[in-house]
Amino acid sequence: MILQQTTVAAGVPRWESFLSRFPTVAALSAARERDVLAEWSGLGYYARARNLHRAARLVMQRGGTMPESVEELRTLPGIGPYTAAAIASIAFGAAVPALDGNVARVLARLHAIPGEPRAGASRAAVEAAASAFLNRRSPGDHNQALMELGALVCLPRSPRCIACPLARDCRARASGRTRDFPGKRARKPAVSVRLAAGIARRRGRLVLVEDAILVPGHLVVPLVEVGPGADAGRALGSVWPRLAGRAALRIELVGTVRHTVLERRYVVDVFDVTEAPRVDERPAAAETPHTRLLLPKKLESEPRGGILRKLLALSAQAPTGSSRPGRARRGPAPPKPRGG
Ligand code: SF4
Repeated sequence: MILQQTTVAAGVPRWESFLSRFPTVAALSAARERDVLAEWSGLGYYARARNLHRAARLVMQRGGTMPESVEELRTLPGIGPYTAAAIASIAFGAAVPALDGNVARVLARLHAIPGEPRAGASRAAVEAAASAFLNRRSPGDHNQALMELGALVCLPRSPRCIACPLARDCRARASGRTRDFPGKRARKPAVSVRLAAGIARRRGRLVLVEDAILVPGHLVVPLVEVGPGADAGRALGSVWPRLAGRAALRIELVGTVRHTVLERRYVVDVFDVTEAPRVDERPAAAETPHTRLLLPKKLESEPRGGILRKLLALSAQAPTGSSRPGRARRGPAPPKPRGG
């Protein structure tokens, strides 16, 4: 499941680290989701980690034995046809082809199958070719070999045909049309989204909340979506009491960060926020029901996305305090403190 969206080179050390922290299905099942997400940090596509965790719990509920067939594996969350076939063939020797994007590209070129191999007749033709080509005595080795061939030799833009063991039989190569296969998929246009993010500290600790916009469940600084033409600082100031549990006294623009998640392009205005202090505050009361307060060095052990790193890096580069030169002051007229 790590390799669903991650290269082998990047995935192996993370897999070793994951296995040392959660060495068995039972250990993964018993872990808190927060800890699983923290271990997954930096790998992206966090739904995979949540699904892996849920799958471990389901396996334990069903008696603690890993399912071995494609059909049984597919009843677990996050395991689609490709992952089920990969696990069943590699781990249990089931004679099923595993068809990922790399393998589909190899087969589309090998047989000069026109069209986009994820859809319609092209998909059926690629699946039939995969099944006919499968080495049924060593399906796991066969599948891994084809995956590697697609990842390292039959590259999307510049296939290294000279190094390819299938070159002699490859119809795309023979016709000099390797670039025409597989057919291209129509891309969805990217959607732009404006956000405002606020960085505040209480007693030296960062004010963090549970992300509800970018990667649900992750820790992030308070964020709000900003409508077209709206003032980002004002938008942040107006929701700060609800997000962070305090009023914002001063909101000062630090800069802008760009971040893309799938087809969404986020443009994030980043603000330093000075909050209204609480007069009755004891150290233990500094954390409200809305927030978590963390020393920046403690972030390593928490689930957090790449956006938080970008926001904090921008804030760290900027001069501190309201004397920051050349920075436009935006945001609301200082709102009245509401005492917390
Ligand atoms: S010969 Fe070239 S295009 Fe054909 S499968 Fe090998 S690398 Fe891909």
